[in-house]
Amino acid sequence: MSIFETPSLEPNPKRQRIEPVFEPNPKRQRIEPVFNNSSLSSIPCPHSYAQHGVCTACNSMIERCHYRSFNCFKDGVQIRHEAVASAKRLMTKFSYMGDKKLPLVLDLDHTLVHTTTLSSLTKTEKYLIQEAGSRHDLWLLKSDDDPVEHLIKLRPFVLDFLKEARKMFNMHVYTMGNRYYADSVLELIDPRRIYFGKRVITREESPYIKTLDLVFADERCVLIVDDTRDVWPDHKSNLVEISRYCYFRMSNDQCSRPYSEERIDESECNGGLVNVLRLLKEVHCGFFRVKEELESKDVRLLLQEIEFKRGVLQGESLIL
Ligand SMILES: [Mg+2]
Ligand SMILES: [Zn+2]
Repeated sequence: MSIFETPSLEPNPKRQRIEPVFEPNPKRQRIEPVFNNSSLSSIPCPHSYAQHGVCTACNSMIERCHYRSFNCFKDGVQIRHEAVASAKRLMTKFSYMGDKKLPLVLDLDHTLVHTTTLSSLTKTEKYLIQEAGSRHDLWLLKSDDDPVEHLIKLRPFVLDFLKEARKMFNMHVYTMGNRYYADSVLELIDPRRIYFGKRVITREESPYIKTLDLVFADERCVLIVDDTRDVWPDHKSNLVEISRYCYFRMSNDQCSRPYSEERIDESECNGGLVNVLRLLKEVHCGFFRVKEELESKDVRLLLQEIEFKRGVLQGESLIL
């Protein structure tokens, strides 16, 4: 199985939609729970928050099936299912009241980067192997654990995009690539993790579709940037659809010549990320325009208004 996002959206029949299981960080010391009266009785404690399987209010062991993990928010955090929505609302409000930042979820493949395997390069593209590493936007990915070598091409404007978007958003990565791949890309675009911190969701945690259930934020405030609309069946109204960035030759496109073969690239000043950033600024601005209305603001409605103003017809989506 490829380490990065595969173009096919076919659900993997082997994958079941299951609650994600987060492995605790092995470096952390295991905190032994203190058994008090409520843990000795068979009645579960009534509290909503836990860490590494232990209730933060009364130190009882929790029943994991009643809780959802949010490691991408804080290591080991678990919240009772019924309390998730209100916890998300509270946290998001705290964030936007404090530093005026909204949650933003970013896809990796064909959105921020394009990755291919070395073996799938065409003859005309082979020159790129020599250039990898000596250019700031093209990197070779090799690992002892994976015999397949990859080339990662950063999308033009990506570093400026992140720098600018960070002023308005708490950014998350959500990729259908695996954890090793996500970490490798982040090493290139956010080596000190100042943009994303631990807010990284991969296919190891996700069901076969992407869902905001795994993002610790109030859906009314979350914006998503992704090139694939269909992978977000339940959250299309939060989605800003970005044009698909294809640098290398795609196996399913034998007609047009890719940027790599033409030795050109997407525009630095009028490409997908530039246009998306402009739209994100507009939504952010609309959200915070009237302080008294913050409680009722909804990015989904703001996106609709913008699409309407731009004259996008019903059924057609705005692709930037
Ligand atoms: Mg993608
Ligand atoms: Zn408790």
